[in-house]
Amino acid sequence: MGFIFTMTITATHINYYHICHRKLWLFAHGINMEQHSDLVTEGRLIGEHSYADRPVRYTEIELDGIKIDYYDARNKIVHEVKKSDKMESAHEAQVKYYLYKLWLYGIRDATAILEYPKLRHTAQVILTDQDIASIRHWESEIEQIVSGEDIPQVIDKPVCKRCSYFDFCYC
Ligand code: SF4
Repeated sequence: MGFIFTMTITATHINYYHICHRKLWLFAHGINMEQHSDLVTEGRLIGEHSYADRPVRYTEIELDGIKIDYYDARNKIVHEVKKSDKMESAHEAQVKYYLYKLWLYGIRDATAILEYPKLRHTAQVILTDQDIASIRHWESEIEQIVSGEDIPQVIDKPVCKRCSYFDFCYC
């Protein structure tokens, strides 16, 4: 039987849910190795250096457990900067979750742009009614996964090589 686990679901939980349930479980249980990941640091630096003028032009929003770094309030566009498009589906899920939270707070027609400055690639993201139903399902599954007593199994996929939990999982 699982134990009671109360949590606020963040965009990171949504992202990890789409990458690896074990990673989600470890993160949700406070086992956080991201600060040791050079990739994460590099990703943050890309965001800061590629768009140095953004803090002036765009707003940073924190609401209900999520933090949107770059929000263009005038055009209702979320800008999310990523290093690599290798996990684009997880990135897309993350920004859909931002749009969902904005939708819950009455901003119903916001859109998002995923930006990969190193690749000179962008992708537009919108929130559909189907997405809203899916997101509610994700939230329910995330709560089930993290309240389980057992850590989900390793997934043994290429993504593991870039994961901050690699040593934890495989050594
Ligand atoms: S190393 Fe692989 S199995 Fe372990 S948490 Fe990361 S993605 Fe999941």
